[in-house]
Amino acid sequence: MRMRRGPSNPRAVAPVIRLIRAERRSAMLGHRNLIRHPVLSITALFGLHWDVRKLILLAIAVFVLLFVFLVARSATPVVDLPLAVTSIGQATPITVHVRDPRGIRRLQAFVEQKGARYEVFDMAQPSKSSEAVWNFTAGIKTTPQLHEGKAKLIVEATSHDMLRKTGHAERDVTVVTQPPAINVDSEPHYLYLGMADLATFTVSGGWTDAGVLVGDQKFRAWPTPGGKPGLFSLYAFAWNMPTDTVPLVYAANDAGSNVTRPLVVVFPKREQPKYTVHDLRVSDAFMQKVISELDPNGTGDPVARFVKINSEMRRADNKTLSDLRFKTADKFLWSKPFIRQPHSQAEANFAEVRNYIYQGKKIDQQVHLGYDLAVTQHVGVQASNDGKVIYAAPLGIYGNSIVIDHGYGLQTIYGHLIRIDVHEGDAVKQGQVMGLSGQTGMAAGDHIHFAMQLDGVQIDPKEWWDAHWIKDHIARRVDLPRFNMSSGASPSSAHGSIAGKGFSAVTITRDLLASLSGGRQ
Ligand SMILES: [Zn+2]
Repeated sequence: MRMRRGPSNPRAVAPVIRLIRAERRSAMLGHRNLIRHPVLSITALFGLHWDVRKLILLAIAVFVLLFVFLVARSATPVVDLPLAVTSIGQATPITVHVRDPRGIRRLQAFVEQKGARYEVFDMAQPSKSSEAVWNFTAGIKTTPQLHEGKAKLIVEATSHDMLRKTGHAERDVTVVTQPPAINVDSEPHYLYLGMADLATFTVSGGWTDAGVLVGDQKFRAWPTPGGKPGLFSLYAFAWNMPTDTVPLVYAANDAGSNVTRPLVVVFPKREQPKYTVHDLRVSDAFMQKVISELDPNGTGDPVARFVKINSEMRRADNKTLSDLRFKTADKFLWSKPFIRQPHSQAEANFAEVRNYIYQGKKIDQQVHLGYDLAVTQHVGVQASNDGKVIYAAPLGIYGNSIVIDHGYGLQTIYGHLIRIDVHEGDAVKQGQVMGLSGQTGMAAGDHIHFAMQLDGVQIDPKEWWDAHWIKDHIARRVDLPRFNMSSGASPSSAHGSIAGKGFSAVTITRDLLASLSGGRQ
């Protein structure tokens, strides 16, 4: 039934069809229905004149190719809403990233609330760019119909090609008509350089971020433990903070509102720790030890290499330590006063200023932000309190180091170990031996560099060795589960030989405060 040769003139088609019909009627009686509409039927198509078939097939092929071409060229726009957008206020800036190889014909944004849809943005100018960023604002200012509460932000982008596919992104948001409001505890907070404190407060209205600001240092707020209402922040008044700095409780929402309230503070000028200045003589042997260990591939002037390690590497190491604040638990992992390494002698105290003297000349000055605790060579290094190991590895000038998280941004640091016996992620108990002391890093003799940090700011650990201070500043203000003053360090190990100038001054102040406030302790 195939391949009839004939004239290519289209006027010859009609008789040909009639001929085919006649043939079919006799040859394929059983398939009569299929050939009733010959032009529409594939069976009939094959029966057409060869040239006509060619034309029709060509037309179909062109259509298919065009379609495939269009589909291949067209894309669905990918719309990205930044994760930070969680609430909408007066006029909240919103940035949308859209990717589409053909560009964007139209971009629209809506806020949906209680079944109603409000357009908040309609991009008028089509863009040919394959990656575009669109900025607009959404909020009560332009959409006064919005109410406080839940809503949905929807962004739709239409591709700049023939098929006009639409990509979309949506996000649950909260419409915030009121700025945050802060209610701060009213008690006076006594500030001492290098020390910590705890503030309690409540934040109402719409807020996404809160805490205590001391200068440019931010301390996070946490929900009060034990299911009680409100928030608290452990914050530090850093050793080098300008003394007229007033800590502020802050609350912000990503709708653009930012509110602060000052804490009631007392800064007893005469009772502040007095940081001492010491000359540290650098021998040739020590300089060689430090540069060969910490800058093994370096060349050039040994003094310059030593100073570079002491300044730049120290700064980088302190940054690494500070960044560990993000690896903290949102609960107290401890319940007893912190302990100081038993039987240890403090060879250096917190925030001592050190002049590095080489061949009679001062080559550098740094501040020592911890205690150098010496016992005997290779003594077992004990965990100061219960917690979780978040760092156990070499760390530049601090040598082999361990950092333990105790929750709510409070962390202890142990440096210069010869051997580390714990791993990141291990839970440790107070007094647990975690490795052996040594003199790795920038250490001239076997000792433990013990330090403490609060939300990344290094603080003087001695308050945390003091059961009375913890009771008065922490346990009295928030629920510290199972806190027991009698546990933890014995008085001799807690105070020991570090009762230096700063410490006795602060102790006197606290006793004075206790008597003024009716003997809280
Ligand atoms: Zn040290």
